[in-house]
Amino acid sequence: MPEYPQPTEQRALELQSNYNTILSKVHQLNPQTQLVAVSKFKPSSDIMALYNIGVRHFGENYVQELVAKSQELPQDIRWHFIGGLQSGKAKDLSNKVANLHAVETIDSLKKCKQLNDARVRKNGEVVNVFLQVNTSGEEQKSGFADEKDMEETIAYLLEDPSCTKLKLMGLMTIGSLAESTGAGADGEDENRDFKKLLEMKKTLDEVYKLDLQLSMGMSNDFEQAIKQGSTSVRVGSSIFGSRPTKST
Ligand SMILES: *Cc1c(COP(=O)(O)O)cnc(C)c1O
Repeated sequence: MPEYPQPTEQRALELQSNYNTILSKVHQLNPQTQLVAVSKFKPSSDIMALYNIGVRHFGENYVQELVAKSQELPQDIRWHFIGGLQSGKAKDLSNKVANLHAVETIDSLKKCKQLNDARVRKNGEVVNVFLQVNTSGEEQKSGFADEKDMEETIAYLLEDPSCTKLKLMGLMTIGSLAESTGAGADGEDENRDFKKLLEMKKTLDEVYKLDLQLSMGMSNDFEQAIKQGSTSVRVGSSIFGSRPTKST
């Protein structure tokens, strides 16, 4: 048995309690919804605290950080890449992360092809992909904003014979802050970003005969997201505590 970095007992109990609190809220709303623990900026020992109680789905935002963690942690962790994917990083992501389960932030055909081609060259296993959609239209948000671009990417994923290493699993969005705090919701509970993603899913399911998953909802808005059809929520700070703000 390799020795993995372990948390103190106190930290382990704290994280396990936080995780179980979130998980029971998730399951109360929908027992089928996946909870992905977002561990960016948190040490590997924090991940082990949850791994030790059976958690396997973790989300990371930075390729270098994910590569380092995946190399020192158990190989059966299912990693979700949820960060902005720079073109040059697709190769490292594909080739240096053991058990890359899903890339949730595909927002261009170009990145899709780069990821597939890196995977083909390495003869790696198939990776699940989510297409990120900019549902709020905010300029600083990534994601497909143009339907035609998205259709081209879907056609590549489903019909191009050279696309052998990617599986279209679903759609992903980051709801706008205004929607998640209710400020933009016209006094109603419904989050318009989540509603938009669900409507896109329904249309695409019908056109392409799919059953797309929906990755939407974070610490602030995961309960609302599940009520609106989310099948995978990405929760970080409510489990691991607050993060240092990134200075870029
Ligand atoms: C950081 C991050 C999360 C987790 O956010 P919290 O508010 O800490 O739960 C979820 N999704 C994405 C894409 C993120 O970057």
